[in-house]
Amino acid sequence: MSEWQRILKDDSIATLEQLAERFGHDVIDVEALKPAFDNFQMRITPAALEQITAVGDPMWNQYVPTVQELDVHDGIIDSLDEDADSPVPNITHRYPDRVLFLVSPVCASYCRFCTRRRKVGDPEKIPLNQYDSAFAYIRAHPEIRDIIMSGGDPMMLSDRRLEYLLQNLRAIPHVEIIRIGSRVTSHLPERITPEFCEMVRKYHPVYMNTHFNHPRELTPKVVEALGRLADAGVPLGCQTVLLRGVNDDVGVMKELMQRLLKARVRPYYIYMADQVAGGEHFRTTVQKGLEIVRALRGWTSGLAVPHFVIDSPGGGGKVPLLPEYVEEITDDEVVFRNYEGKRFVYKQPRIPVPAAACASDADSPDIVPIEVGKTPRRKQPARRRKSVNG
Ligand code: SF4
Repeated sequence: MSEWQRILKDDSIATLEQLAERFGHDVIDVEALKPAFDNFQMRITPAALEQITAVGDPMWNQYVPTVQELDVHDGIIDSLDEDADSPVPNITHRYPDRVLFLVSPVCASYCRFCTRRRKVGDPEKIPLNQYDSAFAYIRAHPEIRDIIMSGGDPMMLSDRRLEYLLQNLRAIPHVEIIRIGSRVTSHLPERITPEFCEMVRKYHPVYMNTHFNHPRELTPKVVEALGRLADAGVPLGCQTVLLRGVNDDVGVMKELMQRLLKARVRPYYIYMADQVAGGEHFRTTVQKGLEIVRALRGWTSGLAVPHFVIDSPGGGGKVPLLPEYVEEITDDEVVFRNYEGKRFVYKQPRIPVPAAACASDADSPDIVPIEVGKTPRRKQPARRRKSVNG
């Protein structure tokens, strides 16, 4: 058994009794929590436990079940309708050139808001002996150039099994990139071993999509694990879920994005929490997400500003959301506001172009600043206008 497997097995907390012992019977209402523990699986690794400083803090909220999870009236079991886009077991093929490949049914710690809670934690839901039909499907579809390995957490597999997967995928000529979606960098940094780093180098380009929701998750051990991956040539991105009571706060999100970049991780997405059954208490409004994006864009490095998206309920895919910067678009000019709320006018090209022109963000003589509150200097001609949203 590897050291990381031993830590997972021996040092994690998985029962209500262990939780009460760790945090104190006086602060934990065992009777109140019992129904939740009777219905849901919990595991919190030592690394995640270290991040909890008080009962009910943002870290606690992410991992400890509550009776609110029993309220399934407003949510959907398979909120993204992934099973409908599954041509063979373990594969979801939703977008033209990439597939989701579910390779592991378990995670190091279990997140209460998980979109895939219907599959996660139950080994029978992602059978490990059904990889072959997935390989055959990918082989038969030359348009697939990008594989996203997910689960559960792929990094819960042994190096031997991961290498088997990587070898088989790399043997398919049209597979260009492989991504591993994993939260072990936060939950179990010990899993990022030198042996894994050595192995993964042989199968590049292999990316890792990490998952961090709060700056407190970036402990020194975690930052070291991220460094080992970056040194092994694994480009690192981060997916963050906007969660009530965890990170629905401008200051928290800004600190998280800045600290991720410092740890060599590029913030990639902030997701609205999915409408998953039992996860209603984690959801906040879209306006809160837009407020956070507005507070990031322009106020900190562009590299620290992820896409803010809703994963469309029912399987429509990710849709990006932006605060309203553009006020008006005509054939002659575009009127917009910058991050400070100041209004500017960008002149359209004089020679008509067939498709939408791509504006450079470099300083341009065609951008004419105007005072806040004043209308553009030139009256808009009554010509064909495009809807700002269209
Ligand atoms: S690590 Fe990911 S897949 Fe596992 S429980 Fe958390 S959100 Fe779900």
